[in-house]
Amino acid sequence: MFYRVTVTSLLKRRDKWHLLRVGAEWDQTAVPIYEAAARGKCVPLLKTLLTNHCKNECAYCAFRAKRNLQRIDWETRKLATVTLHLWKTGRISGLFLSSSVTRDPDYVMEKQLEVLRLLRGMRFTGYIHLRLMPGVSRHYICEAVELADRVGINLEAPNRSIFSQLCPDKGGLKEAVLKRLDWLVDETSKAKNTKIKPEFGFARAGIDTQMIVGAVDDNDWEHLQVTEWLYKKLMLKRVYYSGFEPIRQTPLERKPACSPSREYRLYQSSFLIKDYGFTANSFAPIVDDEGFLPDADPKLMLAKLDRDMFPLDLNTATYNEVLRIPRVGPVTAKRILKARNMRKIHYFGDLEQIVGAHLARRMRRYVELKDKTLPCFLKQTTP
Ligand code: SF4
Repeated sequence: MFYRVTVTSLLKRRDKWHLLRVGAEWDQTAVPIYEAAARGKCVPLLKTLLTNHCKNECAYCAFRAKRNLQRIDWETRKLATVTLHLWKTGRISGLFLSSSVTRDPDYVMEKQLEVLRLLRGMRFTGYIHLRLMPGVSRHYICEAVELADRVGINLEAPNRSIFSQLCPDKGGLKEAVLKRLDWLVDETSKAKNTKIKPEFGFARAGIDTQMIVGAVDDNDWEHLQVTEWLYKKLMLKRVYYSGFEPIRQTPLERKPACSPSREYRLYQSSFLIKDYGFTANSFAPIVDDEGFLPDADPKLMLAKLDRDMFPLDLNTATYNEVLRIPRVGPVTAKRILKARNMRKIHYFGDLEQIVGAHLARRMRRYVELKDKTLPCFLKQTTP
């Protein structure tokens, strides 16, 4: 089949999106392409809903049943064919498929999986990220894990009360979402433990979820507690935060939007939990009485308060301690540990050789060096 392709800008607000027109002149389809970030690279994905017909009335959602808007459905074979074509011509690396809840969750999942079955049947070996429906049956979860590379189900809220305010028709948080997340974890670990290393599918890229931030009375502390549990107990690959934005004709249309900085500080903190050995409780010294993080780099703030740990002797510090130094990430921490085995780090010049002059200057106040004076933030308060 011949496809004509043109690209136009779709969302001015987020430049990670563009709209691709595919199809012959008499049969054009516009598909949204999302530039996802993976390991420092941009990965273009066809990101779409199977349908935006929804029977539910989630309080924040543009597609809730009572809103007046154009409703569109993909025909499953067409979506599979368009995806395959875009992938074969190098315009996308894969598909991100979610859906509104047009009927019961199993009906929607059956349709989503129909697209995946068709694609894999047509030898599509690209990436598939599938958003599952809350309340879906277990056998669909097994099949989703087999066919998709990443699977996820949205938690939406950090506790039951907020969940029922936001999503009154999705079933309870525990039954409809947490139980399904547990099943996903179970099925994914079974898939991981098989000896065959699949080249695609089998949830190789893990599980993810998303929570809405700032729609009703949540706070950062609750989000961080749940995030820790998701990363450390359920071993999720990613927890996404979606800052609330008010939408007309919804019950929350008069609520203020979540500030981008709040979402950003939550992400920074969640990465500290995921990759830097912090716990949710580590943030206790910096959250305010209402449970909100300050609008500042959380790692830097915690380091300034941690006078027992800093300045740190880089020759004896553990990997996790080195990671606590502001602006030091896992790669630099490993480099420091490797370098100190060859030569002790006593002077600024030693550190400079390992991490470069710029970073060494920024680390200086947090490490013990023979040729430096006491860090100024300690100086001010040291008797
Ligand atoms: S089920 Fe999904 S699409 Fe439907 S109203 Fe809720 S969030 Fe929106």
